[in-house]
Amino acid sequence: MIRHAEVIIIGGGVTGASIAFHLTAVGARDVLLLERKFLASGGTGRSVGIVRQLYPTPETSQMVVRSLAVFQGFSDAVGGESGYVDCGVLIGVSTAMRPKLEETVRRQRSFGVRAEVLEPGELARIEPRIDSEHLGAVLYEPESGYGDPTAVTTGYAAAARRRGVRIEQGVEVVAIRTAGDRVTGVETAAGDRIDAPVVVNAAGLWSGAVARLAGVALPIVVGRHPVFVVERDAGFGRPHLVYLDLAGGSYARPETGGLTLTGSLTDDEAQHPMEPELLGGDVSLEEATEVLERTGRAIPRLADARYRRGWAGAFDITPDWMPILDESPIRGFWIATGMSGHGFKLAPAVGEMMAALITGAAPPVNPAPFAFGRFTAESPSGTFVASYLG
Ligand SMILES: Cc1cc2nc3c(=O)[nH]c(=O)nc-3n(C[C@H](O)[C@H](O)[C@H](O)COP(=O)(O)OP(=O)(O)OC[C@H]3O[C@@H](n4cnc5c(N)ncnc54)[C@H](O)[C@@H]3O)c2cc1C
Repeated sequence: MIRHAEVIIIGGGVTGASIAFHLTAVGARDVLLLERKFLASGGTGRSVGIVRQLYPTPETSQMVVRSLAVFQGFSDAVGGESGYVDCGVLIGVSTAMRPKLEETVRRQRSFGVRAEVLEPGELARIEPRIDSEHLGAVLYEPESGYGDPTAVTTGYAAAARRRGVRIEQGVEVVAIRTAGDRVTGVETAAGDRIDAPVVVNAAGLWSGAVARLAGVALPIVVGRHPVFVVERDAGFGRPHLVYLDLAGGSYARPETGGLTLTGSLTDDEAQHPMEPELLGGDVSLEEATEVLERTGRAIPRLADARYRRGWAGAFDITPDWMPILDESPIRGFWIATGMSGHGFKLAPAVGEMMAALITGAAPPVNPAPFAFGRFTAESPSGTFVASYLG
């Protein structure tokens, strides 16, 4: 069957759903989102959903501030629930990191970020269960927290549908059609040809494979990032705040049912390439032990927490650990991927940005740092930790 759309979005994760929603907001018509499995079945459904605001550049700071406002007012701005919990985020840094932290936070204030640098000794008044011994300072972001990536995706998708977007699940794109240097549409595994002048690659961990269908190479590594679930002991008391221990290399975020999600905050994901199809698979006891030891040092009360389970997550990582939000060298074939572990907290702003770029509207934030062609052999490579402090 031959069909037609004005815009095809490949991928029904939080990125694709946000783009679909925002495209309708700037007047795009005949938008079709194709998802090979079901909404949020990729990295989005495996995400930890932490929303911190500490970012090193004006553009990322502006994007996270815009996104936070959406999470906070999701039911009014979009409809549905974001599951946003504004429990506050604490970010522990070493003495060596402290000057950079202070400089970054000073700059971020002009973008509306509310954050306070605390002495390690002051931490006790906010979260006494964190060990401050090894820290040089702690950043406190009272409005930050965590949200529900699946709920945000389905919220955006439902709102996009109400505005006329067609969402088809169980539809895999297996070919991208081009004529000269222009995209002309896609082909699906079911044998349909869908013609469209604009195709958006929002395929997350699979975006490299999708780009190759159009002959485009993306500088993206899929790197393993396992998550571990522990059960806090009965005497732990109220849930802890989200804690990102940049000095010690772990994070912990509370979950309902007395659970805590924890994982590594070192920079090793890119050194552990993972086949995307392994997403959600098993983790080894060795991986779990290594991370749980670090988490136990950061929050000693968690050292005896009962290990419940874990799952294999992964990030789509670019060389500078920042997304690619741009048209590819194939005209009409747009890229919104390489989220590098930030894709949930930036999703509202990413959708807004992509919708503006695709329709020629004024972008809400300078898109230059997210350009497709920014990587050269000489570009310095980034790290996850550098995505906090530069
Ligand atoms: C374990 C883990 C923890 C994380 N923690 C955080 C966090 O705390 N804070 C934060 O901000 N971010 C976090 N992230 C990152 C964030 O969740 C992701 O960047 C974001 O969810 C990615 O969304 P996406 O829509 O770009 O990709 P995905 O969710 O992967 O969606 C891509 C979709 O494309 C579909 N697809 C692929 N190929 C095709 C095809 N050929 N045809 C049709 N459909 C196709 C897939 O099925 C998939 O559903 C985490 C990620 C993981 C995995």
